[in-house]
Amino acid sequence: MILSGKLKYCFLVLVLLVPAGTSFSLDIRIGVFHEHLVNAFLFTSGDWDYHIETDQGLLGICPAGDSWYVIRQKDSLFIRDHTGRWHHGNRLSFSAPDEYAYFRLKPALPVLDSREYLADLQVEISMNSLLMVNEIDMEKYIMGVSETEAGNRCELEYYKVQAILSRTYAYRNLARHKTEGFHLCDAVHCQAYKGRNIWNEDVEIGTEVTEGLVLADGDSVLLSAAYHANSGGETRGAEEVWLTGKHYLRPVLDPFSLNQPGAKWKKSIPAGDWIRYLQAKGVFVGELLDTSLLEMPVKHRQDYYLFGQDSLLLSVIRDDYQLRSDFFGVKLEGDQVVLDGRGYGHGVGLSQEGAMEMARKGYRYTAILNYYYHQIQLIHYMFLLEAGKLEVDIIYLP
Ligand SMILES: [Zn+2]
Repeated sequence: MILSGKLKYCFLVLVLLVPAGTSFSLDIRIGVFHEHLVNAFLFTSGDWDYHIETDQGLLGICPAGDSWYVIRQKDSLFIRDHTGRWHHGNRLSFSAPDEYAYFRLKPALPVLDSREYLADLQVEISMNSLLMVNEIDMEKYIMGVSETEAGNRCELEYYKVQAILSRTYAYRNLARHKTEGFHLCDAVHCQAYKGRNIWNEDVEIGTEVTEGLVLADGDSVLLSAAYHANSGGETRGAEEVWLTGKHYLRPVLDPFSLNQPGAKWKKSIPAGDWIRYLQAKGVFVGELLDTSLLEMPVKHRQDYYLFGQDSLLLSVIRDDYQLRSDFFGVKLEGDQVVLDGRGYGHGVGLSQEGAMEMARKGYRYTAILNYYYHQIQLIHYMFLLEAGKLEVDIIYLP
């Protein structure tokens, strides 16, 4: 166990700076509303005119503030422009001449809440719905992920942390949807991205001042930068959750996560139901003359609920009861068994609420990252590219 005193021995953070004035731009393709089978939508342009093209060429221009409607019928797209005229095509692209141009996308079949996105939208027909892809500069995509993940109320230092985590994840997983024609989806399968709806200035600054920076291990390999909502007071090693360990994902005591919204939880279960559950799981309960045998104090993280000579994995109980975490103890209150829980999520890597608290207490983003990850370096992705450490073709898709 690495104790909280780790802060005193902060590990080396190597920030390799890109020469001043050098600017890299990389567009990334994100499948949006990916969890839904959208078959019709309304496109509304923001402050700029958008050009709409089909595979046949320019279809028309959607003036700022006007809307176009698109619906799939079998293998074709039917498009109604802002004047009410109908068009027909197989692929569509909505593009704007300015990098700060944005549009609003409102699914109509099914009806879903609308979202705002920067940059371009490309639409084609996939298996049984529309494939909608937001093509956007990587850094502006990272701003969208940061605001989706962290919301509106964090310190600037936390937004820097979130931007680096989101960017590291993105570069590491660029091939996840390669066969589908885009890089990442907008759901938790990849990382949550709901466009830009808050427009928080600190989200933008936190992304800009860390532009291009990602986390790597000592061999300059991108980190699997796992994070979760709240550690409950101690994180856990990757090998305890995913079988394969990572030397940078080690357990740390985490007092910063205590007293945060996700630090504690409880679940009450009638004692009879609990005993029947244990029996169904093959735990030998017997006549249970001493009910205190059911109890297990919550101390540090452990793997098993111990009952007499028998045991049951806490992670199995977590899955069966859909608990917030597998960090809990068991106590009796009257005829109820109370699961006395800590934390929210798998507990590996960085605790978001702990990191937010560190930011409130004045820790810099480098100190926060070093607290939760062991022996890491902060490095510009261009250096990884040049060193041959980024294997994915990040510029072009097949
Ligand atoms: Zn995905």
